[in-house]
Amino acid sequence: MPETTSIVISRLPDAELFQKLARRHGHFCPMSTLGLRIGWAARRLVQGTLRDAVYCMKTCALDGIQLALDLKDLPLRESAQHRFILHDDGGWLQLALRAEALQLAASYRQLADPVMQDALLQQLRTLDEDQLLNVTRSQTPP
Ligand SMILES: [Zn+2]
Repeated sequence: MPETTSIVISRLPDAELFQKLARRHGHFCPMSTLGLRIGWAARRLVQGTLRDAVYCMKTCALDGIQLALDLKDLPLRESAQHRFILHDDGGWLQLALRAEALQLAASYRQLADPVMQDALLQQLRTLDEDQLLNVTRSQTPP
């Protein structure tokens, strides 16, 4: 039997990366958590060289994306949409947070119990990417 080697980037960032995010960001919160999930997904999906990237809403998500992709000063194009747009060798890639993910994140504010808050953050850290994100690739800028 020939030996096969495969490299798999996990679909979930490991727990330590979320701790690092909280240290850098200053607190645990749903949007920075979702930002890390967006950035982590983008790491796997980028084709070739990442030429340009922009996020479309000023939220805590920026810090998560920047940490996952090791970016500094990610540009913001304010359009009140939770979308991350990248330009790479394959064209343009857009990762948009799904309404369900945003509803979950918003529900965090209604939780007074820290145990319930932790449980929600854990849910956002581990939910399947397909439930969090709509990913589209195009040959023209979205
Ligand atoms: Zn935050």
